Amino acid sequence: ANANVVIIGGGTAGATAAKYLKLADPSINITLIEKNAHYYTCYMSNEVLGGGRTLDSLKFGYAGLEKRGITVVQAEVTAIDAVAKSVQTTAGNFPYDRCIVAPGIDYRYETIENYSADVAQQIPHAWKAGEQTTLLRSQLEAMPNGGTFVMVAPPNPYRCPPAPYERASQVASYFKKHKPNSKVLILDPKTSFTKQSLFEEGWMQLYGYGNNDSMIEWASGGSNAVVSLDTATKTVTTAGGERIAANVLNIIPAQKAGALAFSAGLTDSSGWCPVAVASFESTLHDNIHVIGDACIANPLPKSGFAANSEAKACALAVAALLNGREPGRTSFSNGCYSLVGDDYAISVVGIYRLSADGKMIEAVPNSGGTSPLAAAEEERLIDVQYAYSWYNNFTQDVFF
Ligand code: FAD
Repeated sequence: ANANVVIIGGGTAGATAAKYLKLADPSINITLIEKNAHYYTCYMSNEVLGGGRTLDSLKFGYAGLEKRGITVVQAEVTAIDAVAKSVQTTAGNFPYDRCIVAPGIDYRYETIENYSADVAQQIPHAWKAGEQTTLLRSQLEAMPNGGTFVMVAPPNPYRCPPAPYERASQVASYFKKHKPNSKVLILDPKTSFTKQSLFEEGWMQLYGYGNNDSMIEWASGGSNAVVSLDTATKTVTTAGGERIAANVLNIIPAQKAGALAFSAGLTDSSGWCPVAVASFESTLHDNIHVIGDACIANPLPKSGFAANSEAKACALAVAALLNGREPGRTSFSNGCYSLVGDDYAISVVGIYRLSADGKMIEAVPNSGGTSPLAAAEEERLIDVQYAYSWYNNFTQDVFF
């Protein structure tokens, strides 16, 4: 009989895995189980906050994958029985020979007193694109000129390392045009972040960063970690004892693997899923592979680009294993554009490979890099065009 592969989560990693597994071996029966009818990409969702794009422009469905012969089931996965090799869902049970799990992330709300999934309905994290993105945008629109947008940045590791700083940039870009007396304050437990000097250079050029009247302020280090919240007044208290009131408050909490990874016993004490990176098979359960933000694939970041790269490697490995072959030696890539202003983007690229023993992922020496500091205006503008073109190509690669 043909092999059955059940893929859980139709996000960036799961959708890519479904497509590329079908391409690798069309004889495999592939069932993709996703709880939502549509997927909204987080990539470019900061542009919705800046006003340059609608949420609807980030929406994708599953008809493209269905056309390829993949069975897409809209249901919530409630458990995985790793012994019986069966996935339990709100729409029945699905037996598998191999299972690929890609549930994305969840939040450690408990790290901030009084923050919770319920409170996030009014004080959004907007770290999964959708309703909360729209809510945060409407709060920014309703904010008076002269107000303060406070963003609480998460500790490492978290989904999309540059995204909080791109978000700060997009909000500043909106303020500059519509609410020029307003401020963006980033409260950050970290002391550094990715592409920092490029972001800071962009903020200096566009938003007066470093001056007294800078539109963006970055308060960094452990004393600026937010420890509690007063929801009624949108006031946060930092570890250093400071109380800061916001007009619009965006709390991006510490993160962990998606809930299903925990209930399926796929996480370790870090709260993420350990895998053998040559195949992304869980080191805790045989025949279950974990990809995307939920898995530990350092030094690959938790990005959509990396999730797509992991999904392709995993799909090829699963096809090989189901056909009695050893997985081949794949390489990985990551690339990320950050939109700092309307005509101003910066980027980073990384190329990775399996280590000689096949047990780790390592950066390929002398590969990758970032866009240069002190670049000409046209270079920043070209990166904006590359960003949009990446988005269009990438979403085609994932969903069609
Ligand atoms: P997801 O895409 O979140 O997919 C998980 C899926 O699993 C979801 O569809 C969910 O509904 C489903 N699911 C979960 N549990 C269950 C269950 N029990 N049953 C059924 N379905 C379930 N990355 C980039 O590469 N470039 C960028 O420019 C970029 N910008 C970003 C900007 C922001 C603001 C944010 C927040 C992220 C950004 N990212 C970017 C990161 C990117 O969105 C994630 O890394 C990527 O989505 C990870 O893919 P995933 O498949 O692991 O998780």
